Amino acid sequence: MMIINADLHIHSPFTKKSKGKIDFELLAKNAEKKGLNILSTGDCLHPGWLKNIIQLEPIDLGTFQCYNTNFVLSTEIQSNDNVHHLLYFPDLTSLYDFREHITCCSTDLKLNGRPYVDVSSEKLANIAIDTSALIGPSHIFDLFSGLYSHYNTLADCYGSAVSEIYFAELGLGIDSYHADFLKELHPLTFITNSDTHNPHPIRLGREFTQFQVKKPTCKYLFQAIKRKQHHRPVLNAGIPPEEGKYYQTGCIKCQKSYSIKEAKKRKWKCRCGGVIKKGMKEKILEKSTSKQLHYPYHRPRYLSILPLHEIITRVLQEKNPFTENVESCWNALVSTFGNEIHVMLETPINDIEKVTNQSIAEAIKVFRLATFSYKEGRGGSYGTLYL
Ligand code: ZN
Ligand code: ZN
Repeated sequence: MMIINADLHIHSPFTKKSKGKIDFELLAKNAEKKGLNILSTGDCLHPGWLKNIIQLEPIDLGTFQCYNTNFVLSTEIQSNDNVHHLLYFPDLTSLYDFREHITCCSTDLKLNGRPYVDVSSEKLANIAIDTSALIGPSHIFDLFSGLYSHYNTLADCYGSAVSEIYFAELGLGIDSYHADFLKELHPLTFITNSDTHNPHPIRLGREFTQFQVKKPTCKYLFQAIKRKQHHRPVLNAGIPPEEGKYYQTGCIKCQKSYSIKEAKKRKWKCRCGGVIKKGMKEKILEKSTSKQLHYPYHRPRYLSILPLHEIITRVLQEKNPFTENVESCWNALVSTFGNEIHVMLETPINDIEKVTNQSIAEAIKVFRLATFSYKEGRGGSYGTLYL
């Protein structure tokens, strides 16, 4: 068995919002610097991107290689109830089979890397299952396209297919601690992914899942998502929820924070006249089926971390993460110790100190031990990290 890092939700240049150059070479090279062993291809239903996918080196029926990075066939789809879903295909036959079933109900398969299909979530899931694909909801708490923005429960969304849903993607702004307040999520594997439209290492793998698998290939990844035969997720890593713009309930004008009780009393109007917006934290607590937190036994640790570029930027108080100072500091660490995830999770702090300034080493330690503190995000403003 080996431990691998995976980012299973990315996008190609064929998705709206994608920026700059994206190709497999760049994705593979950046994945290696980041410390990711497996990436999803993203957008695999798009004919333009698929043409690139089938030119990669096949490792087996469902795994394709570029340099040292393995890619698995995957796409995101929007169903007609506006929920986003992630799909993983075991091989090209399954992918073509699935595509044939949905061609009649989609008008933008050739236009958009993340297509819209005019069928319900339940119907879509049943087509996926019938064609041997794995399907689960993307960024479940997303305000626009997350499952919980449109349905009360998983079963409401997936109906007859719900017993075949094995995973849910947490999405930015949420961790396992919060998601596990919903008991119906306990049987599922949580996956944490970047959902990036940009291959730069500050975006790629900004959230990732660590799995224990026999080999870094599609077949064993499926087993790990289903937690079969000692294959399983061993760590979820992602952006601290406190960083999120709507983590806490607060005013969108002056950012004063409010308790739900106080906000209700004030009819969601702040003293300054601004509107008070309900925070993610409170929304989840309201949905919570039990007030007492129970982690399911299989749930791995959730590690809150920021991309190393962000940490360096904040410690050095640079204007943005793309300055020469930040870049050279990041390069020094990554070229000395192999890759970013290794630096963030494993490299001895003493060794890091020898290569970079002591405050950066300290900041990495603070994230490893989860001893950071935040002025939590609220009312449309990101949280402020105190280092
Ligand atoms: Zn999405
Ligand atoms: Zn996406």
